[in-house]
Amino acid sequence: MKMDVMNVRRLIPTAVLAGAVALGTTALTSCSGAEAVGGKDGKLGVTASFYPLQFVAEQIGKEHVKVDGLTKPGVEPHDLEITPKQTAQLGEADVVLYLKNLQPAVDKAVAQSGVKSIVDAATLTELEAHGDSGHDHGSEQPHAEGEAHAEGEAHAEGGHDDSHGESGTDPHVWLDPVKYAEIAKGVGAALEKADPDHAADYKKNTDELVGKLTALDTEFKDGLKNTASRTFITTHSAFGYLAERYGLDQEGISGVDPESEPSPARMKELQAVAKKDNVTTVFFETLASDKTAKTLAADTGLKTDVLDPIEGITDTSQGADYFEVMRSNLKNLQKALGAK
Ligand SMILES: [Zn+2]
Repeated sequence: MKMDVMNVRRLIPTAVLAGAVALGTTALTSCSGAEAVGGKDGKLGVTASFYPLQFVAEQIGKEHVKVDGLTKPGVEPHDLEITPKQTAQLGEADVVLYLKNLQPAVDKAVAQSGVKSIVDAATLTELEAHGDSGHDHGSEQPHAEGEAHAEGEAHAEGGHDDSHGESGTDPHVWLDPVKYAEIAKGVGAALEKADPDHAADYKKNTDELVGKLTALDTEFKDGLKNTASRTFITTHSAFGYLAERYGLDQEGISGVDPESEPSPARMKELQAVAKKDNVTTVFFETLASDKTAKTLAADTGLKTDVLDPIEGITDTSQGADYFEVMRSNLKNLQKALGAK
């Protein structure tokens, strides 16, 4: 008899678990592992395509949201491929945040997700093409061959940077704190709409985040006001918005696709630019290979340092979140440009 009771007791949790899983499966389709039971814990489920949008959702949603990022830390977001599990996860979200034309696989999955609240961050601010200073930018890819300037050669070979090509605009908008604040406002409004019960909190958190971004903008403005050089060289032309905001000139080594190899002509040109504009440093990013940056630096006797496009945060990032890495970027830029 005692044995039976124990057996029954041992059976209960299993049965409950099985029931919960079955319910979860019906109501929410598939969910990963332990998360299946309990789902989103009654929170607003937000799926963000990559780190900058994930960060905004976390900062504004705080305890009211459960944020999933589609791009795991350390994965180069431009090349992201979506697993069937992630596609299913995307379909379960209450709100999806993404940036159209950055990640083709995400664009496709989002279009098929059937989620009611889908926010394209590109619609929350104004994206630009950055054809002038970031002339080897991948966004120019479709017109590269036809263009007169020699820099066109630098982006002719890239195979998979069409991700930027379709819209002709530069996606790296989060690296401008002013534009990132516009995105924050739009995300805040979307969360308010999707979860009206917590609208007051979302509004307060949005204001707080926008305030922090405004302060960051002031730090950049002040910190880069007075420098010996205005030109910086970087492996990944992700800093067009930042350069424009603070009156700097970005020279990309190999375009938006950090894996593509620059042409010998581009390398020669960059050496000339480095000499003319008193460039001291070649910047590389943390996620992608730094081979070309090191080659160029060695050939020209320049230093190398990190300028992080903040497409993901890893153990090797120079900071734990967007604000910390941006401040580290500022410090490295000040050093390289000879800030007074
Ligand atoms: Zn990028």
